[in-house]
Amino acid sequence: MSKNLSELSGRKGVEENLFDKMGKLAVDTGAPSKEQLEELAEEFLIGKSTTYGTTTFYDFLRPENKGKKVYVCNGSACLCAGTQPKVIEQLSAKFDPEEIGHMTCLGRCHENSAFFYKDTNYSGRAIDTLEEIVSEQVSKEDNYHCEAVGAQVLTEEYPGIEQYYAPFKAALTRNPEAILEEIKTSGIRGRGGAGFPMGNKLEFCKNVSNDTKFIICNADEGDPGAYSDRYLLEKRPHSVLFGMMISGFVTGASWGIVYIRAEYPESVATIEAAIQELRDNDLIGQNIQGSGFNFDLKVIKAQGSYICGEETALINSIEGQRPEVRVRPPYPAVQGLFNKPTVVNNVETLAALHYIIREGGTAYANIGTEKSTGTKLICLDSFFNRPGVYEIEMGISLNAVINELGKGFKEPVKALHIGGPLGGIVPEAKFGDLTVDFESFADNGFLLGHASVVSIPNSFPMIQYLEHLFDFASYESCGKCFPCRLGTKRGQELMTKAISGEHKIDRYLLEDLLHTLEVGSLCAHGGGIPLPIKNTLTYFDEELSNYFAN
Ligand code: SF4
Repeated sequence: MSKNLSELSGRKGVEENLFDKMGKLAVDTGAPSKEQLEELAEEFLIGKSTTYGTTTFYDFLRPENKGKKVYVCNGSACLCAGTQPKVIEQLSAKFDPEEIGHMTCLGRCHENSAFFYKDTNYSGRAIDTLEEIVSEQVSKEDNYHCEAVGAQVLTEEYPGIEQYYAPFKAALTRNPEAILEEIKTSGIRGRGGAGFPMGNKLEFCKNVSNDTKFIICNADEGDPGAYSDRYLLEKRPHSVLFGMMISGFVTGASWGIVYIRAEYPESVATIEAAIQELRDNDLIGQNIQGSGFNFDLKVIKAQGSYICGEETALINSIEGQRPEVRVRPPYPAVQGLFNKPTVVNNVETLAALHYIIREGGTAYANIGTEKSTGTKLICLDSFFNRPGVYEIEMGISLNAVINELGKGFKEPVKALHIGGPLGGIVPEAKFGDLTVDFESFADNGFLLGHASVVSIPNSFPMIQYLEHLFDFASYESCGKCFPCRLGTKRGQELMTKAISGEHKIDRYLLEDLLHTLEVGSLCAHGGGIPLPIKNTLTYFDEELSNYFAN
C-alpha cells in the first residue's frame, strides 16, 4: 500500500475522513457518482483511480448497489436454517428483483429469516408483517436470551455513567505504566480470532514515540453465527468505549475510531448516542477531568466487506484505499493508520477492560484457565432449544454449553461450525472432547476464533456447505495474493461441478489446492479457509465419497 496515499488521506485528520465521505455520498442513491468521486479525489489530492477503485470494492458503494432497496442475509446460519428462499419469495411480492440485494450475516442467527430494509434489521416472523414494515408501522425490537454462567465480566448491568466511569477517572490519576501492568497481569488475549495478548499490543504502541496515535475498535463482526459484538455494541456500548479510552490513556493515543459494519445500523446509532453522552459529561475531549489527557472518539461506518475485519485491511479502509491486506512488518502498532502507531482491538477484548481496571488484573486472571484467562461470549443459533448470547468462563465443556445453556438441539445436528468461516467444523463425535478455550480447540485441530456457533443439521449436505465456504472465501478475498484470489474460486468451482454431477473431485488436486492456500496466502483469510474444509474431509469422508473420483 502506498505510504503517500496514507499521508494524503490523513492530511485532513480524522474529522474529515475520506472513507466516511464516500459512505455519505452513497446514502441517497446507493453509490457515489463519477463526478462526486472526482471531486473527492481533488479534495484529497489523490488520483481518481483511487476513489473509483475503492468504491468498486465495497458491496454498498459500488455502482451495482444503485437502486437496491432491501437486502437478504446470506450468512451460514440462515443458509443452514433454510429460511431465506421464503424470505426472498415474500420480498419479491413487494420489490423488483433488481431492488433486492444481499448482506452477509446480519447477526440475527438466533431466529434467522433475516433481512435489512431502510437502515433496520428484521428477522424471525418479521417477514410475515412486510406490509406493516414497508408502511413503517412495525416495532423494531430484537429479543434474544442472554445469560452469564459464573463470573460476570461482559454482561454486568450498566449502573449509570457516574458509577461506570469512576474507575476511568481513578485511572487518570495513576501512571499509564501501572494500568498497562494490570492489563498484562490479566493475561487477556484478543477475542477477534488470533488470540494475541492485548497487553503486548498496547505496550508495542506505547513504546513508539509519536505525537499522534490511534485506537481502533474493530466492530466489523462479519463471522456468520456471531452476534456477541452486536450484543456489546447495542446493550453495553459504554464497556466498549471505556476500553478504548483506557487503551488511549495507556498508549498515549488521542483518537479512538469505532469502525462498525453497515449491516449493524442499530449498533451505529447506539454507539453514537453513547459517545454524545461522554461528550456531555466531559469524559472525552481535551484535558479530560483536568488530567492533561486528550482523547476523542469517532464512528466510521463500514460499507460491506468481510476482509475489513483483518486489521491492516481495516486500516486501509479507513484511509479510503482499497481494503487490501498489508504486508507486515511494519506492524500497525508502529505504522498503522495514516502511518501513525495504531492499536486495533476487537469489541469483546476492549469490553473486558472495565472489569480488569476495576477489579485488577489478578482477579481477571483467576477466571478461566491458565492460558485462556477470563470469560468469553458465545452465541448459539436457532437450532438450539434456547438460542442466545451466553457469557461463560473459559474452560467450560462444550457439552455443557450445548446441553445446559442451549438446552440441546431442536433437530439432529451433525456438526457445529465454531469460530466463523475460518473456524473448524466440529463433528458430533468430538463435542465431548472439547472445552471452550484457545488450547483445547487448537489441540483438537479446530479454532476457537470468535466462538460463534453455526449448527449444521443432519439434513444439510456437507458438499453444499463446502461450496458455500469456498464461495464465501472467494467473494470476500481482497485479491492481493493469487493463492487466495484464484484458489478459493477454483475450490468453489470444484464443489459446484461435483454437486451438479458434471465432475468428480480429484482428491489429490484438492489437497494440493488446500496446501497452496495454507502456505502461500498472505493472511489468515486464504490461509485459514482450508481448516474447515479439511475437517469436513476428515469427519464426513463417507458422506462425501460419491463426489470424489479417488
Ligand atoms: S489471503 Fe486472500 S484476503 Fe488475505 S491478502 Fe491474500 S488475497 Fe487478500
